Amino acid sequence: MLKQAVRRTGLTRRRVSSVRVCCERKLMARLFPAEPARSRILCYHSVGTESWGHNDVSPGRFARHIDLALEAGYRFVPADLIASDVDSDNHRLAITFDDGLRSVALNAAPVLASYGIPWTIFVVSNWADGDHNFGDGVMLSWDEIESLASQGATIGSHSVSHPNFGRLRGSLAEQELDESRLTIAARTGIVPNSFAIPFGQSKDWTPEARAAAIRAGYQFVYAQAEETRADGTIPRTFVTRYDSDRVFRAALGGVFDRWEEWT
Ligand SMILES: [Zn+2]
Repeated sequence: MLKQAVRRTGLTRRRVSSVRVCCERKLMARLFPAEPARSRILCYHSVGTESWGHNDVSPGRFARHIDLALEAGYRFVPADLIASDVDSDNHRLAITFDDGLRSVALNAAPVLASYGIPWTIFVVSNWADGDHNFGDGVMLSWDEIESLASQGATIGSHSVSHPNFGRLRGSLAEQELDESRLTIAARTGIVPNSFAIPFGQSKDWTPEARAAAIRAGYQFVYAQAEETRADGTIPRTFVTRYDSDRVFRAALGGVFDRWEEWT
């Protein structure tokens, strides 16, 4: 009974949050002018997993985003290149996906391959192990992750269990950072050098986690925010299911650079 009530409350809260995301993005895209173009790392999640809510972008919309970016004169490069490079080309974009969803392999990878666009996926090691409640066939397995890597995708870590690092105490942050990296290496033979912060907003990272990420051997730590991100993290531009042509162009023009998904 209690469980059902909690679940209902959770669903309602999530729906309210999605309505807010939708309204704010559409309104801001109309009200605020776009800034001149600059290089950006885009943060997607799923591409055709409706249960991912406002984090899910439909396959048709995803392909449309790629076309809009190319029409606007952007060229696609690996995320780590933008993260490590300060050259003056302000028309570079990178594609990244958080969480390790199977819909990315099914619906986004073929589009990206057809254009020769490099991309990165950040996986949660427990979820790839099957330790989750999202249902069968929702998350990528290790074999599928390995196959994507062999086709050119960059594999990064998104932790062991997707905790909020802003609330982790003691050695827990260190464990999440170390163990996920070691598990990805053991399961795929790839040692990830990049980490995407779960939730990725300003409050979801700490100086202690930052120090632990460096000790664990990560070269790049990606936020899910631009100007409001935590110190020492690399900015990314969050993309949502409500990003119509107008909203996506606004995102590329920096309209949401101080906006955060969760408040
Ligand atoms: Zn995530």
